[in-house]
Amino acid sequence: MQLSALVDWIHRYKDEVVARKDELTDLDRQIGDADHGSNMARGMQAASDKIDAAVPATVGELGKSVGMTLVSTVGGASGPLYGTFFLRFGTAAGGVTELDAAGLSAALRSGVEGIVARGKAEPGDKTMLDALLPALDAIDDANAAGRPEVEALEAAATAAEAGSAATLDLVARKGRASYLGERSAGHLDPGSVSSAMLVRTLADAAKG
Ligand code: ADP
Ligand code: MG
Ligand code: MG
Repeated sequence: MQLSALVDWIHRYKDEVVARKDELTDLDRQIGDADHGSNMARGMQAASDKIDAAVPATVGELGKSVGMTLVSTVGGASGPLYGTFFLRFGTAAGGVTELDAAGLSAALRSGVEGIVARGKAEPGDKTMLDALLPALDAIDDANAAGRPEVEALEAAATAAEAGSAATLDLVARKGRASYLGERSAGHLDPGSVSSAMLVRTLADAAKG
């Protein structure tokens, strides 16, 4: 995947979280503090503006710019978590202008490992990881089967959406929603929905 397509990913993700801001906030109203949509829209708008103003020359620079902007503009759990994702993604990718299938998979995995290291959540804790971890596995399965990048990312987006949908019945064990205990069941995790959008917009950007 070319740097230009990854830049397009950031713009597409910004457009998606801005368009679906109220939906994300409404989900967070059910089991959190009703700010996930505004957090993500503010952070991604700032990240998108930043890369327009100072165009990144490498994938590493792109990840660093987006990650640092999210950490500095989004209060709450999601800013540092998505910020860490992009910082680690950029560090793993390094000073390149293109990632092959293995490189993209490794950079995404490194980013998600950053979320795990920072938030200490496990699969099934009803967090963004319940969308992101199945997406990584889907990419690796597709790569192992020698399928083209667009198909691998399409499979990843579908897996992320299924993982997010499956948070409905889970009891939250991390983040604000965990304060509700059993009452968190019956609601989607807002961060898993924004993470499914992250993977879907990556798949869309890969198609061009
Ligand atoms: P806050 O909860 O601080 O208001 P947001 O509402 O923006 O922050 O983000 C909430 C989302 O963050 C949750 O829906 C969940 O997906 C994610 N989240 C919270 N804590 C963790 C964690 N420890 N690990 C992974 N994801 C988490
Ligand atoms: Mg919140
Ligand atoms: Mg908050």
